[in-house]
Amino acid sequence: MKKVFIIGAGGVSSVTVQKMAMLKDDFNQIILASRTIKKCKVIKDLLKRKFNMDICIEELDADNTNEIVKLLKKYKPDIVLNLALPYQDLTIMEACLNEKVNYLDTANYEPKNEAKFEYKWQWDLHTNFTKKGIMALLGCGFDPGVTNIYTAYAKKYLLDKIEYLDILDCNGGDHGQPFATNFNPEINIREITAKSKHFDNGEWKIGEPLNKKINFNFPEIGFRNMYLMYHEELESLIKNFPEIKRARFWMTFGDDYLNYLNVLKNVGMTSINPIDYNGTKIIPLKLLKRILPDPGSLGKLTKGKTCIGNILTGLKNNKEKTYYIYNICNHTKCYKEVGSQAVSYTTGVPAMIGCMLILKKIWYRHGVWNVEQFDPDPFMKYLNIHGLPHHLVELKNKIEF
Ligand code: NDP
Repeated sequence: MKKVFIIGAGGVSSVTVQKMAMLKDDFNQIILASRTIKKCKVIKDLLKRKFNMDICIEELDADNTNEIVKLLKKYKPDIVLNLALPYQDLTIMEACLNEKVNYLDTANYEPKNEAKFEYKWQWDLHTNFTKKGIMALLGCGFDPGVTNIYTAYAKKYLLDKIEYLDILDCNGGDHGQPFATNFNPEINIREITAKSKHFDNGEWKIGEPLNKKINFNFPEIGFRNMYLMYHEELESLIKNFPEIKRARFWMTFGDDYLNYLNVLKNVGMTSINPIDYNGTKIIPLKLLKRILPDPGSLGKLTKGKTCIGNILTGLKNNKEKTYYIYNICNHTKCYKEVGSQAVSYTTGVPAMIGCMLILKKIWYRHGVWNVEQFDPDPFMKYLNIHGLPHHLVELKNKIEF
């Protein structure tokens, strides 16, 4: 009997736990721990009502390694799924090392006081994980996650050599709110307001945030403006596929969204530097997060689809070929199935699949790994079965933008 210990009880976690409950034979013992026990209780009650499944819940501050260790000693799980925030990656990994427990997350480590995402801190733990005889799987959501697996799939079946990679993330959904983010507002805004960065001919090119815009016709959605940004999977993909000449990440934003964001940024509300308010230290971005709608509450309101995928150009038998691999996810269908919008769904399902592959030892190797370092076949198979099927089209020409 395998035990899964999940940390975090937000939008993504709720989807992962429900998807696990649909596969009771594989996931028969779940412990859910998070900072606010009330949120764990909501998920626990939902599971009982919907699936007649009992889970254990615990209050936990995952910034504190000792607290995590205490609970790991109590439950002795086979794996920890970190579905809290990127700030907790290292404390949770340390606790896993201490108790020899496998680890999985969906976002790379980021220090609280600096908006800087990098795999370095987690990759540095590779030797320790290897020595302890356990594994860590990093970035097992959609992007990072499925977009990395699409790249590995392209390398295995479509192209001998990948030369140009563009990852396109389009949320064509509408929730009718003046301003709200699709996932944790603090993490989301830190990401969007960071400088853009892409890989080109052996070096990183850095630019002002969102300074390059392309109007792209997304399948089943239509034309949307997408902006060049930095996203963490670029770092691991250029390391694991060193033949890539250019790697870029694009995300769509509506004009209204950007206008609100600019105003908030210009008045200082997106800053992570503490200010003094009547003797209390306040981080403006954290205050903003408290005011904005909880992304978990947007499920019912959000209509439309997401389209996330990769355009890859490279050589097959010395001939240039271009492919577009993508998934379309419908917000309304996700809400019907698990009470969440598609952004939580597209992250929560891959996290469940990664966990299943580790527990079944289909993907199992000691050390710290990114998902593209494993065989894409079983993951692609389970994505098709569990709600995130892919589309594959060959494009006539390399896309020029
Ligand atoms: P939410 O904010 O909805 O949920 C985060 C949860 O973590 C909350 O329950 C929160 O508790 C809990 N938490 C935060 N800090 C701590 C702590 N110190 N100790 C214990 N629990 C804590 O976020 P999402 O569900 O939207 O996102 C979850 C993760 O998924 C994030 O890391 C995000 O970056 C990542 N993500 C990855 C994507 C991908 O495609 N790879 C896409 C979208 C998200 P509380 O309720 O008290 O705030």
